[in-house]
Amino acid sequence: MDVRIWGARGSYPASGARFSGFGHHTACVSVSSGSDLFVLDAGSGAAELAAALENPSLKHVHVILSHFHHDHIMGLPFLLFGLGEGVAVTIHSALGADVALGTIVTALFSPPYFPSDAARLLARIRFQAHAEGASFDAGTFAVRTTPVEHPGGAAAFRLEKDGKSLVYATDLETSTIPPAGLVALTQGADLLLHDTMFSAAEAQAHRGWGHSTLEAAAALAITAGVGRLVGFHHNPRHDDAELVAREAIFAGLYPGASLAREGQLIAL
Ligand SMILES: [Zn+2]
Ligand SMILES: [Zn+2]
Repeated sequence: MDVRIWGARGSYPASGARFSGFGHHTACVSVSSGSDLFVLDAGSGAAELAAALENPSLKHVHVILSHFHHDHIMGLPFLLFGLGEGVAVTIHSALGADVALGTIVTALFSPPYFPSDAARLLARIRFQAHAEGASFDAGTFAVRTTPVEHPGGAAAFRLEKDGKSLVYATDLETSTIPPAGLVALTQGADLLLHDTMFSAAEAQAHRGWGHSTLEAAAALAITAGVGRLVGFHHNPRHDDAELVAREAIFAGLYPGASLAREGQLIAL
């Protein structure tokens, strides 16, 4: 199972050379195994993923959206443009079975917000709005979900195949006492990708913004016993020097903990 980071920023893309070490694009992570490809969120990094796709055996892409904030969907049309007509695409959410997923996504990528081409592309997409906390199979993967605390709602996901697993938990406001549902989802995962947008002091000043801290991510990793912890959803104002300093603190909170870098490949 190969996990690749295509965008690790939160909120909006970070521009400028002093941000290039950890990268510029917003949230997008691919998970591939055999002919299966999952795309976890489709922020601006999804445009890079589309440009790099060279897998002639690719038949079906599963896009899993944690929620619909711009930094998690802005790259979606460019991903779709990059996929051949022969590739089936299913877009999943786990924010409630009654969420009008197709209507929401299509409206965002229709005039006047987007040229009509994207709406035409979206017409061939299959949409699956799952219930909060749902489990489902996609391709050869088992997917589990749990709702997390974030303005407007968001979901965390666990993907599992052949005894290997990763948890993608971003845009969630947690403390150093992680919620039981999240601990259950994360139990024994080989890799935890977790929102680390704020320091503990910053989080105090941004209550209700729906983001997490190095300390909360480490607490979940310890409680759930994960193999590897990687911080994600970097503040677009935090340049490389700032993130390197935070990464050193993070590694002191959990052995081997690091912050995600755009382009990074993690093999499980
Ligand atoms: Zn976000
Ligand atoms: Zn968000």
